[in-house]
Amino acid sequence: MTKPTTTNSGTPVQSDDESLTAGTQGPILLHDHYLIEKLAQFNRERVPERIVHAKGAGAYGELVVTNDVSRYTKAKLFQPGARTESLVRFSTVAGEQGSPDTWRDPRGFAVKFYTEDGNYDLVGNNTPVFFIKDPIKFPDFIRSQKRLPGSGLRDHTMQWDFWTLRPETAHQVTWLMGDRGVPKTYRHMNGYGSHTYQWINAAGERFWVKYHFKTDQGIDYLTQADADRIAGEDADYHRKDLWESIERGEFPSWTVHVQVMPVAEADGYRFNPFDLTKVWSHKDYPLIEVGKWTLNRNPGNYFVDIEQAAFEPSSVVPGIGFSPDKMLLGRVFAYADAHRYRIGANYAQLPPNRAKAAEVNSYSKEGAMRYDYNDANVPVYAPNSFGGPHADPDRAPDGGSWDFDPTIVRAGYIQHPEDGDFTQAGTLVREVLDDDQRDRLVNNIVGHVLGGVREPVLTRVFEYWSKVDSDLGKRVEEGVRAGLDDGATPPPAQG
Ligand code: NDP
Repeated sequence: MTKPTTTNSGTPVQSDDESLTAGTQGPILLHDHYLIEKLAQFNRERVPERIVHAKGAGAYGELVVTNDVSRYTKAKLFQPGARTESLVRFSTVAGEQGSPDTWRDPRGFAVKFYTEDGNYDLVGNNTPVFFIKDPIKFPDFIRSQKRLPGSGLRDHTMQWDFWTLRPETAHQVTWLMGDRGVPKTYRHMNGYGSHTYQWINAAGERFWVKYHFKTDQGIDYLTQADADRIAGEDADYHRKDLWESIERGEFPSWTVHVQVMPVAEADGYRFNPFDLTKVWSHKDYPLIEVGKWTLNRNPGNYFVDIEQAAFEPSSVVPGIGFSPDKMLLGRVFAYADAHRYRIGANYAQLPPNRAKAAEVNSYSKEGAMRYDYNDANVPVYAPNSFGGPHADPDRAPDGGSWDFDPTIVRAGYIQHPEDGDFTQAGTLVREVLDDDQRDRLVNNIVGHVLGGVREPVLTRVFEYWSKVDSDLGKRVEEGVRAGLDDGATPPPAQG
């Protein structure tokens, strides 16, 4: 028998179609509770969209450890043979909900592992570096990539103004303007933890690590022309691809690797190993295989499982800690704070966020939308004499530790010998890209700049690329000037 429609409190309703009115032409009556509930509930169906990474897609899967890295970490999820359930959310960064998946942008690659020591979140991107290295610049950077306050339009002058005034962006912008700036699908891109993290083994020895999830589908990309066309034809191209491949039983997978740097080598490394705008060369620190990470289950409900998913770099487990990377330390605060604002103080209770393999014995209680309760016999304060949980430092992650000069300063990173803002960007252009990739890089930059970059920023754009690579700078300037001569007129200034 068909189930009757009910109100939210379970009472059967009279009609799915007709509101209650005084006569057929009379006004709607306020005591039509079901109509009011329906309209009011609809008004509240959305939570605020994420200020960054608003558009995304996600799936569940698992990590299976295939190698023995126990000499570097005691984290249970990375012990030989361990299998750990996992959730991922892929995303673009600057676009809003509903924006096209194929806009040029880094992609978020946020992974949650439901471990028996609590959830471990590795909130990475599809790029090994980032635009900036100090979280004090993050709101400025993101605003420059979003919309003008007056017109509500995106503005290439604003984007290039910020990039050229902060030359540490050069490595990430080079990467972004290259092929990898628009992946073919979420399945055809790598994931990187990007930050330097700390691993701690059972003997208490500490190592610096970087995570690399290398796609087993192979890296693939969209040309700017294809990306532009698809943006018009199917804004959800990447979301759809991920969903449909998992529905077909074609489960995408990534081979997880780490680079490991003994703590004693950090000071003498040619690049500052905690600077998020730099990579560690594979030649210096080769990738060490850890395991296979596979996505094998679509969300049961997009809003519940993916829109409400909350990833936070603060969630670490024993055997894993932080590092002097200031961006990482800033994110340790900012993510949990964003979740409290966006989905509420009890976000950790929601299905995608709750610990699945660990017991939660927290002293948090009550607050908006709390729907479970602490055992009435367990005290709500600590310390107590009546059987409440006790903190046990031997079982807890300590966040890691490191030596530092305790003088309080506002200062940049310690400079290592090869730490220029343009060094690794230049290496990428000259030593990694081939001729065809370099041609597409030039075309992508020229096209983007012709999208409306005005003076005085335009001159700085040419200087910026000349510092990355003199030949590249020359080609960008020639391409842009030719485009301007052909009538590509930058739009007038707008606020
Ligand atoms: P390697 O020659 O050992 O590694 C170069 C790496 O560049 C490749 O392994 C690949 O990383 C990545 N790569 C290949 N094609 C592209 C592309 N079109 N766009 C972006 N990245 C690409 O050299 P190094 O490790 O010494 O690094 C040299 C330069 O390579 C760096 O300055 C950096 O710009 C770039 N790079 C380095 C990475 C690293 O972690 N060391 C990671 C990514 C880029 P992958 O195997 O991850 O696909």
